[in-house]
Amino acid sequence: MKLSSTKYIFVTGGVTSSLGKGIVSASLAKLLQSRGLSVTIQKLDPYINVDPGTLNPYEHGECYVTDDGAETDLDLGHYERFLNIQTSQNNNVTTGKIYQSVINKERNGDYLGKTVQVIPHITNEIKEHILKLGKGKDYDVVITEIGGTVGDIESLPFIESIRQLKWDLNQDVLFIHLTLIPYLSTSGELKTKPTQHSVKTLLEYGIQPDILVCRTEYHLDNNLRKKIALFCNVEQECVIESIDAKSIYEVPLLMFKEKLDAVVCSKLKIEINGKPDLNKWKKFLSHLQDPKQTIEIALIGKYVELKDSYISIAESLIHAGAKNKTKVNLHWIHSSKLEEEEYSSLLKNVNGIIVAPGFGSRGIEGKVNAVNYARINKIPFLGICLGMQCAVVEFARNVLKMKNANSIEINPETKFPVISMMEEQKKLKKMGGTMRLGSYSCDVKKGSLLHKIYLKDTISERHRHRFEFNNQYLNDFESNGMIFSGINRKNQLMETIEISDHPWFVGVQFHPEYKSTVENPHPIFLGLIEAGLEHSS
Ligand code: GLN
Repeated sequence: MKLSSTKYIFVTGGVTSSLGKGIVSASLAKLLQSRGLSVTIQKLDPYINVDPGTLNPYEHGECYVTDDGAETDLDLGHYERFLNIQTSQNNNVTTGKIYQSVINKERNGDYLGKTVQVIPHITNEIKEHILKLGKGKDYDVVITEIGGTVGDIESLPFIESIRQLKWDLNQDVLFIHLTLIPYLSTSGELKTKPTQHSVKTLLEYGIQPDILVCRTEYHLDNNLRKKIALFCNVEQECVIESIDAKSIYEVPLLMFKEKLDAVVCSKLKIEINGKPDLNKWKKFLSHLQDPKQTIEIALIGKYVELKDSYISIAESLIHAGAKNKTKVNLHWIHSSKLEEEEYSSLLKNVNGIIVAPGFGSRGIEGKVNAVNYARINKIPFLGICLGMQCAVVEFARNVLKMKNANSIEINPETKFPVISMMEEQKKLKKMGGTMRLGSYSCDVKKGSLLHKIYLKDTISERHRHRFEFNNQYLNDFESNGMIFSGINRKNQLMETIEISDHPWFVGVQFHPEYKSTVENPHPIFLGLIEAGLEHSS
């Protein structure tokens, strides 16, 4: 820690959702980090689920898992990918989590007979969760993103809490409001009124934003900036343009050009000199923007209509692609489509196939077909979690001739339950937070493809599953050419598979996509891209 006290930056959103608060927060964090400050980011979500682990991806996109096993909002993935840091349980707080904790305390008698109310009990709990992140962790800056849009009933306690924190910490608190400046094509104008209204709403709650970050399709000229500044009580240099970008990875540089970091530092009285060190970031971006070759990768999943469901996989491919100066054309294929007769035409021209994680039986036979196609045609293959389980099922059915072999998640009655439920899962009744979650390590078999990929004897990766390979069939699989290259010795869990007579066939029970960052593309995805390039040449 460089500063004498931790600074707290709160990012709220106005006018509409999906303005990219997560990316703006992560970009600001990147700029501050590049100036030598230690930074972390937190997301407060106003919904009542205790965490997004129980939410369908169609509702909320991907559920991101941290090292310590928290099931969190996908924005935490952006934070880790941009900052190359690890987040934890404490970086994502929902209304449900806050209420659960307050109600538990009430049942314990901790409130000594007092009436438990939104103010002060809920707001105090929220404040505690915000301050907890700053305490003892040596962070110079904690950025807290408030989910939802200002004016929503459900985010009110969060807004009230940050108002109080400004009162408590004064100089150490800064408010950034992300808003939209829509363009009306009929009149050919950018409009500031929605922003004025949104700031008025914030003012009603007692919050005067210090900085406005304005999402826009067209550049904001000086007059417009002057107008926004005048109507919203902010200085003109605090009106920051955030123009639509081709890639989220351009945003830190766009924010730097707009001097967002400099304005933040001057408002928080953080002394800065010179420029942030963004060399690594710029190098990555130049590879991303100027690729030398392209490859085609198919991503098979059952939620492909909502690309956010697989966002960490898509980003991991971008990181690994850039490292190889390669543009990865991702073909999003619905697994149900691969259940139709002519399915192979969909996979004909790809250089790599990924079968995605997932739950439940919809589209499962399409996933098994995709594995079969990759295995027979020797196309580089990566099966992640459910994807690995499908690869085991395919091998059982077509190589070991175990008719109708399956995972018991899909068919509990199968004669060949090659994927079965983990022992400790069998007795569980509750759904939320009860999977095998977070980081576990496994030993890597020497001489295996996995060892060539990682160049390590032990690895540690993040998990999120209830089912596993059924060791009862271990000999059958091994004697027919399947290699179990990563084994968790403590619990005898087969964490990874590969096939001997295939150029690149890897199934992993864990989620490598959660650990890929701009600075450290993940070795599994690098391996897939390299194998894909070989396949394409
Ligand atoms: N449904 C499978 C399990 O619970 C796979 C989970 C996943 O793909 N994340 O084991």
